[in-house]
Amino acid sequence: MKVVTNDIELKIALQDFNRGKRKLGFIPTMGALHEGHLHLVKQSHEENDITVVSIFINPKQFNNQDDFDKYPVTLESDKELLERGHCDILLLPSQEVIYPKGFKPVKVDIDTLNKVFEGPMRPGHFDGVIQVVNRLFEIVTPDVSYFGLKDFQQCLVIKALRNELFPKMELKFVPTIRKAEGLALSSRNARLSQLGQEKANIIFKTLAMIKELKKHIEPYDALKYGKHILTQNGFEVEYFALANADTLIESKKWLRNGKNIVLAAVWLEGVRLIDNYIF
Ligand code: AMP
Repeated sequence: MKVVTNDIELKIALQDFNRGKRKLGFIPTMGALHEGHLHLVKQSHEENDITVVSIFINPKQFNNQDDFDKYPVTLESDKELLERGHCDILLLPSQEVIYPKGFKPVKVDIDTLNKVFEGPMRPGHFDGVIQVVNRLFEIVTPDVSYFGLKDFQQCLVIKALRNELFPKMELKFVPTIRKAEGLALSSRNARLSQLGQEKANIIFKTLAMIKELKKHIEPYDALKYGKHILTQNGFEVEYFALANADTLIESKKWLRNGKNIVLAAVWLEGVRLIDNYIF
């Protein structure tokens, strides 16, 4: 695996990889890599000739300074994992590479997405995501980019960015990788105690329970019960809601199969965790 830090080094590395007509798959990350990230890398390796992964902790997408300060950094083990996962090139850009002097933010219309769930809870977050991913797409010029459905709303934001500014690039959304007991793998899980990690399995179990309740009761009662279970188990619930999986518009009625998404954002031991379930 080659390690590069800017667009010029990347261009040189890609010459060595003889990019020409070969297909390049790209996975942007913030590091502290786990099996979930590796799944995206594996899929890219299987579907492309060259796989590029970036690690950049983007300050612009953190609406909470404490979350930014505590974001785990595990570069050495990240590199080992990526070597094993057949990543060809690791891009490790500096702040100056991503946000050079005179940096002009791009504007992408994500009006409705900014008004629901993560939007109001994390002001400025999606704009930060758009700025960094736009810069990374400009630098890497991928044929295909991979994102995880764990960050479902982010996938829709990236789709809007692609449609507006990178129409030729293909996007692939990859299912959430979980522990056997259900907890979605996340870099933030490392900040939970052992007990916290065990408890956090309840999030997925509660999301999955909603699908079962669909057969018997209305969404309002199912969601109320789900919130009750989470609160009883010591979670602070920011949102636990049903929406249309195409639009993320909140829904008071069950939708037809495949269109229902239940989304959760909860706090446990001072760590904010998100997950979702589509059915
Ligand atoms: P992050 O480093 O958290 O910005 O994540 C980088 C990419 O990996 C994003 O597209 C995430 O949605 C994706 N990702 C994170 N956790 C998982 C997971 N458990 N399963 C699948 N993809 C994931």
